[in-house]
Amino acid sequence: MITLQSVSKAFGASQALADVSLTLPAGQITALIGASGSGKSTLLRLINRLVQPDSGQVLLNGQDISALAPDALRRRMGYVIQSGGLFPHWTVARNIATVPRLLGWPAARIDARIDELLALLGLAPPVYRQRYPHQLSGGQQQRVGVARALAARPEILLMDEPFGALDPLTRSALQAALLRIQRASGQTIVLVTHDIDEALHLAHQVVLLDHGRVLQAGAPAQLLGQPASTAVADFLGRAQTGLRLLALQSVADRLRPVAALGAAAAAADNPAISAIDANRPISAISAISAISPVSPISASLNLRDALSLALARQVDRLPVVDAIGRPLGTLHLADLLRPAP
Ligand code: ADP
Ligand code: MG
Repeated sequence: MITLQSVSKAFGASQALADVSLTLPAGQITALIGASGSGKSTLLRLINRLVQPDSGQVLLNGQDISALAPDALRRRMGYVIQSGGLFPHWTVARNIATVPRLLGWPAARIDARIDELLALLGLAPPVYRQRYPHQLSGGQQQRVGVARALAARPEILLMDEPFGALDPLTRSALQAALLRIQRASGQTIVLVTHDIDEALHLAHQVVLLDHGRVLQAGAPAQLLGQPASTAVADFLGRAQTGLRLLALQSVADRLRPVAALGAAAAAADNPAISAIDANRPISAISAISAISPVSPISASLNLRDALSLALARQVDRLPVVDAIGRPLGTLHLADLLRPAP
């Protein structure tokens, strides 16, 4: 757990952080959002001691980090910056190996870890291992920066706009990879992003900063549903609040299950039919077996995307299947108008 206690930091006349108190729970993802210049990067750099506070303390598991050696502290923390921050005269492999080498890992273990990380981040190891940073696109450099930060499995990951230069597809693939890694490793992650939807999607806790102060810290649904002030509501985009709340839930949270409608047996035999409308009598289902206007959606899809699909298809219900295509039930758009169960 990382705790900031009344931390202030000024650069000349500019107050980057003003009396910030905050808890960043262990094993969770905290996203820092806020306008440019609001103090996000400064807050991140206080945690690995690249910036010293003027007053207040930063505690790591209860211990004041100013009492810890900066080098030892930084080895426990992966740090990614937007530009990648790679060493220009080192190959990709050597860059990723930075901390494992400092920690004295055997060469074979380092090599295996480099290949594993490159593959995880969608960069074919044989192609990219020996390249130099200037031979990579901005997005590829960012991914190598993420690989370098992850390399020695640090207990804390500090990420400053790590996915900023990526195209939307790569970005969402890497967001999914980060969630998988975090769930498997239980790492504590502090992520700066200017993308509100990225923050809401990835984070357990979202912290909104404004002129060096915390406007609100809480779970995504809390900031959206109970904004602490009009400034919070404005920043989160009032017009999109409803859609953003929907994006926090998956189809699985709202579907009407097949079994509950007494058609489970029929469903098992014919996914397409059962999924269209499991609450019709069996005879009626047979009668409509030829029409399957809608292909089923996955239960893991978020409700905003499901709504969008339904609107595009002009239907008010969607058949839902699990990861291997077994029918689970039906999503009724009318159910989205009722409060979350
Ligand atoms: P953000 O990451 O939210 O854009 P920063 O933490 O980088 O914001 O900056 C907060 C404020 O502190 C800004 O006004 C910025 O200009 C100032 N600042 C940050 N770092 C420095 C620095 N090293 N020297 C001078 N001013 C700085
Ligand atoms: Mg910044």
